[in-house]
Amino acid sequence: MELHEQSIAQLSRRLGAGEVSSTELTTHMLERIRAHDAALNCFITVTEETALAQAKTADERIAAGQAGPLTGVPIAHKDIFCTLDVRTSCGSRMLENFMSPYDATVVGKLQQAGTVMLGKTNMDEFAMGSSNETSYFGPVRNPWDTGTVPGGSSGGSAAAVAARLCVAATGTDTGGSIRQPAALTGITGLKPTYGRCSRWGMVAFASSLDQAGPMARSAEDVAFMLAGIAGFDERDSTSAQRPVDDYAGALGNDIRGVRIGVVREFMGDGLDAGVGASVLAAVEELKRLGAEMVEISLPNAGLSVPAYYVVAPAECSSNLARFDGVRYGHRCEDPKDLEDLYKRSRSEGFGAEVKRRIMIGTYALSAGYYDAYYLKAQKVRQLIADDFRQAFEKCDVIVGPTAPGTAFRLGEKADDPVSMYLQDIYTIAVNLAGLPGMSIPAPASDGMPVGLQLIGSYFDEARLLNVAHQLQLATDWHRQRPAGF
Ligand code: GLN
Repeated sequence: MELHEQSIAQLSRRLGAGEVSSTELTTHMLERIRAHDAALNCFITVTEETALAQAKTADERIAAGQAGPLTGVPIAHKDIFCTLDVRTSCGSRMLENFMSPYDATVVGKLQQAGTVMLGKTNMDEFAMGSSNETSYFGPVRNPWDTGTVPGGSSGGSAAAVAARLCVAATGTDTGGSIRQPAALTGITGLKPTYGRCSRWGMVAFASSLDQAGPMARSAEDVAFMLAGIAGFDERDSTSAQRPVDDYAGALGNDIRGVRIGVVREFMGDGLDAGVGASVLAAVEELKRLGAEMVEISLPNAGLSVPAYYVVAPAECSSNLARFDGVRYGHRCEDPKDLEDLYKRSRSEGFGAEVKRRIMIGTYALSAGYYDAYYLKAQKVRQLIADDFRQAFEKCDVIVGPTAPGTAFRLGEKADDPVSMYLQDIYTIAVNLAGLPGMSIPAPASDGMPVGLQLIGSYFDEARLLNVAHQLQLATDWHRQRPAGF
């Protein structure tokens, strides 16, 4: 099997046995990036020198018998994670030349685990989008059909994993940005419980929703990556102070008797027929493996998109106020006075979607409107969390589609923000409730990948990963590979 097809467990064994070195593996992946990335635009920055230096360190560590499962494994980071000495653009002109003075906790932890960073991946500007078309660095293309989008906002990470340009990658998910691109590119992605992974050093979009998570080709690889990034961080006040489960160790359990809740509201109107059939085929397979099916209802799930599009823009308008042209980021030429400096720096630095969000959010938070919009949205958020709480009394894991359709064509929704926002109709409720959610490949529809979403109760990542892993042991949907890559 080619090097770039191997799982983390396989690579780790071969690295440990001296059959391949991290330097060889890293060189191989860098060559693949050179050969394929011009067609896909997954990377904003490729860090060849750093990668080779880290690979050398990893090889020394392996030789000294001090390796963990991730040591020597080449990965990529979404360009929203701050990296010392490597620019962090967040897909924006505003941060085109920004050099962070520190590493994000997630980046630091993966570095300590011995991973090799190949580069920083493309993304929607400030993680706002579902297609990667809002990036200042140009859109990413889906390796399954380069005329289609890879989803967003972690589209660069998703396409890079799908095209085998890296073994795994980091992403962030505020409303679906790990799961929806994972679905559209046929890979496995996990958004952990809010607070499971540190947000420190992750450029903030909507702080009460943002969460980092892994993207890879299988649930098993995702389990290794999650083990590398999860855990309490005193620098993030919303980070959860509870022990991290043994995710890889939990993958061996059979799923007989596990109660799987199929969401009634997710299987009806608005769902593409091919995607619906594919999700049902995956559900049938779970049944065959011994899981019990129950129908559940999330009666307020329909309110998740409107609630999110108040909460997320409100928090983004506040978070993005720091980009004022004074402290860091883009500054306009020859400002007349302070107001001119603010105005022009922000007008030039931000793209259209980011400006739209800042305006909506500022309006929603303005005096006299706060109760009508923000407070109301927070109440809806509670109703949604209560729906899930009740659903989890009847089932252990919830399943449904990740996205309403397969990958759409570049430009198809670019001028229609509402249809773009509806891409996240099945993912957003999970963020509003703070729950963990995954997307794993279901059978393809018309040759394009489909995502099956699995939602767990708070901090139940180990169970989610095991259910996904058991399904992947029994099927080959996650092994499909885009032609030409
Ligand atoms: N697509 C959603 C948005 O545009 C979610 C983005 C995300 O999860 N970062 O806000």
